[in-house]
Amino acid sequence: MPRATRSARSRQSDPPAPSERIRALLSWFEASARELLWREFPAGRRPFYPVLVSELMLQQTQVSRVREIYPRFMARFPTVESLAAAEESEVLAAWTGLGYYRRARHLHAAARAIVRDHGSELPPDPRAIRALPGVGAYTAGAIASLCFDLPTPAVDTNVQRVLQRLFAFDDDPRSPAAGRWARERASELLASPASRGIPGGAGRVNEALIELGALICTPRAPACDRCPLREGCLARQRGLAEDIPPAARRVRRTPIYCASVIVRDARDRVLIEQRPSDGLWASMHQAPTIERNDRPPRPREVRELLPIGELRERARFSFQTTHRDLSFVIYSAARRPGTRLATGGRRWIAPSQLDRLALSSPQRRILTGSGSIA
Ligand code: SF4
Repeated sequence: MPRATRSARSRQSDPPAPSERIRALLSWFEASARELLWREFPAGRRPFYPVLVSELMLQQTQVSRVREIYPRFMARFPTVESLAAAEESEVLAAWTGLGYYRRARHLHAAARAIVRDHGSELPPDPRAIRALPGVGAYTAGAIASLCFDLPTPAVDTNVQRVLQRLFAFDDDPRSPAAGRWARERASELLASPASRGIPGGAGRVNEALIELGALICTPRAPACDRCPLREGCLARQRGLAEDIPPAARRVRRTPIYCASVIVRDARDRVLIEQRPSDGLWASMHQAPTIERNDRPPRPREVRELLPIGELRERARFSFQTTHRDLSFVIYSAARRPGTRLATGGRRWIAPSQLDRLALSSPQRRILTGSGSIA
């Protein structure tokens, strides 16, 4: 028996029928949906390319950040063909500011697959959509419903939370069983007459559930008093809205200690190198950097990296990714007279060219002097 059921502490009313829920949800969505560039066309008839780009950008990234980057990316790559024809370095540079660069590589590969295998047109076939790089069950469901009006569930963490609360289902939302359960509940909502009876209904219901999770049924302090689904929401009735779903176990991050050195030449160009082609921030550029897992690199080790003079410590800062805890020490140094530094994959670059490079957030801070590094 789920924990929520054992913990029931208030009277319950019968849950409304799916169609009643859908009508309440959609009328709230009509009045409250945020205006977003990628929602320009009606659900069910959206061109696939803006949906694909925005959905990959939105994975693990806040809407506010995607709002900033999406117009720039679409101006640079306005069609799936233009994206497919681009160099990977151009795509990574246009992705700057969104992080998780694997998604940019997936999007690039998906564009190439669409051009190569489908003549630049995505077919209305959930299996073909799901086969694209970077497209999981959620993204495939969103694209199929928003672009082709297919009744495919799109269960992201927002929708998973809303559904688990509606039904007071308190399993770990990250378990495969909870994912299957949520897709079944979402499918029932999409199959209801209220959803199927309106144009673009599946896409609108999916989008409304996502929006509800983002704006009302938030992880902490859900606004149940303003929620269109409050009638019959079992978590609300039982006073468990904030307890469902159960909190994730704290992630143990791997520490990485980094030392980066800023070296400029007489023309104020800065020395950069490229990271390895796999692993964290693969193939992206950086100031010459040493990384260790056991302890911070010593200044002597930094000087052994390059023929440079005395190091001057400029700044320290930390940066976290989902799985890593990085500590940076930043040095500056002059090169030793008569030595060559632009060897072994290192090169000089003018500061005005840095914007064109794919740089991780900490390296952008280091190389451009944004933040506290002058
Ligand atoms: S009533 Fe509260 S807990 Fe239930 S779906 Fe709405 S916001 Fe979420």
